[in-house]
Amino acid sequence: MKNYSLKHCLRILTMHLIALAGVLIYGWSWTAVGFALFTFYFRHFAVGGFYHRYFSHRSFKTSRPFQFVMAFWGTTSGHKGPLSWATSHRIHHKYAEKPGDPHSPKVLGFGRAYIGWLLQEDALPTDMTLMKDFSSYPEIIWINKYHFLGPLTFLGFTAAVGYFIENNFPSLQTTQMQIIVWGFLVSTLANAHIAMVINTFCHLFGTRRYETRDESYNIWWLMPFSIGENWHNNHHAYPKLAASGLKWWELDPIYWGIQLLAKLGLVWDVYDRSYAKERTLDETSL
Ligand SMILES: [Zn+2]
Ligand SMILES: [Zn+2]
Repeated sequence: MKNYSLKHCLRILTMHLIALAGVLIYGWSWTAVGFALFTFYFRHFAVGGFYHRYFSHRSFKTSRPFQFVMAFWGTTSGHKGPLSWATSHRIHHKYAEKPGDPHSPKVLGFGRAYIGWLLQEDALPTDMTLMKDFSSYPEIIWINKYHFLGPLTFLGFTAAVGYFIENNFPSLQTTQMQIIVWGFLVSTLANAHIAMVINTFCHLFGTRRYETRDESYNIWWLMPFSIGENWHNNHHAYPKLAASGLKWWELDPIYWGIQLLAKLGLVWDVYDRSYAKERTLDETSL
């Protein structure tokens, strides 16, 4: 474990304190909470569907312009750039539950696997030797470097929505600041925590349908929060599949979103079970 960064620790602590202060000062309303749910799922879909299933696992194909849209959409979550995210995720699959796995609770202990690894000096580095498949896209390398533009743009968006609602729909009983606090601050932190919960809980307990080399688990009750990323044992068994839910009752809204994008013609060659069967399923490929 490398050195912790005081800067990262203070930044993450400050974000939580500002969000808490914001909720205490500006209160809550159904409008603000509803908007927070929208911004949470809107961005969690980008992390699960794009950063994870596209940039890390190449579970479908797309055009170069929409690839950039997916990259920028993902940055609004505040999870750094797509290539940094996918670098650490590819390493996670390669070394799952072994030294080198960036967030294994078995190797590092719960605290270091949950948040400690993100507090290190060089947390989430980009390794282009692992991301060669994106090296010919300068626009992706650019947004990966300037990833902070995503959350800043999203902050501007929530401020604009808040201003519009406060001035045009007083019956919704909210304020611009309340919309910013819930739609940006609380939602961004919830997004970060749900990713950390998946990284740790799904390698600690739950059910295992597949005897994978790692200790990954499916946790059904995390579905409403992680909208499909919780079928983590399925995912480790078949990492390249665009779907993580493999039974009819394993709801996977992120996959439904990918299917919708395919229907709209924005993505194609979605690596689903039937597609995989035709091409000999490679269980270990990224
Ligand atoms: Zn995992
Ligand atoms: Zn994965």
